[in-house]
Amino acid sequence: MSRPVVLVADPLPQQTLAGLGPDVEVRHCTGADRPALLAAVADASALLVRSSTRVDQEVLAAAPKLRVVARAGVGLDNVDVAAATRAGVTVANAPESNVVSVAELTVGLIISLHRDLPAATASVRAGRWQRSAFRGTELAGRTVGILGFGRIGRLVARRLAAFDMRLLTHDPYVPAEVAARSGAEAVTLERLMRESDVLTVHLPLTAGTRGIVGEAELRLAKPSLSVVNTARGGIVDEFALAQALKEGRIAGAALDVFEVEPPVESPLTALDTVIATPHLGASTAQAQERAGAEAVRAVRLALAGEAVPGAVN
Ligand code: NAD
Repeated sequence: MSRPVVLVADPLPQQTLAGLGPDVEVRHCTGADRPALLAAVADASALLVRSSTRVDQEVLAAAPKLRVVARAGVGLDNVDVAAATRAGVTVANAPESNVVSVAELTVGLIISLHRDLPAATASVRAGRWQRSAFRGTELAGRTVGILGFGRIGRLVARRLAAFDMRLLTHDPYVPAEVAARSGAEAVTLERLMRESDVLTVHLPLTAGTRGIVGEAELRLAKPSLSVVNTARGGIVDEFALAQALKEGRIAGAALDVFEVEPPVESPLTALDTVIATPHLGASTAQAQERAGAEAVRAVRLALAGEAVPGAVN
């Protein structure tokens, strides 16, 4: 009997793929090349992707043997999970793989903002030595509002507690005692907005969270507020954020994610109170390795007919 085909549609290290074992046939294609993907998926029992391959109704219809789609990463924006469920295809991701990387980037962005590190670097590179132009603020004693107290929110809390920050959080699905165990006080969104010097966002993007930090919320903020979004573009309303920054109602923002990526028309990237990175949250060697290994494990389990811990449907 022929071995089941695992189609690898986005690049994954050879060493990671070795974890698939000898019982499958590994084939490669470029998932962003639609015709190639549609042809290659015809024989596939499993599809391994990162974020570049769009797995939608059309791909699923072209893949009659498909049993599992494994995403080596967290976000499933590129996979139509509902359509997969209808087609009886398991979808799995690697939700734990990059949480430390995102939490560390968040802390890095907060420090960069408070000490103006990108501008200071640019000025030294330009041959200037402007010591008095860059006067920063300490984090110690200041208040951070953590919006969303899930995996990443909690890791950020632990790290910022070590900087002697006061921790507030708003997450209607996390009991106050759980937040208190991490040293954070659970408060309303209104108090979070009023009292924070740093607001850091760690929510999924859903119909309920889109624009949850908008014009009305930003009007509650202190002028010292910095907004950090390493979660998903659109959770913080970009237009309202740009207005608040332009009018000096808040101090700064650090953004790893945008409503449209790359953010060609975002009103934010040109502002010198904004630090922007190109969706780098998960871009560490460790996170990529872990994500690949988790996805490979999901494929093995699914093809063996076993329960897949990272399954989302
Ligand atoms: P998680 O599911 O563990 O936590 C999310 C938390 O948000 C949950 O505790 C949930 O109760 C809370 N929540 C949901 N709706 C809320 C609301 N209306 N108000 C307040 N809280 C609410 O998720 P996570 O692993 O911590 O990830 C958080 C975000 O980070 C996700 O959006 C994820 O996509 C994003 N992320 C970004 C990158 C990147 O590269 N920048 C990488 C990984 C994850």
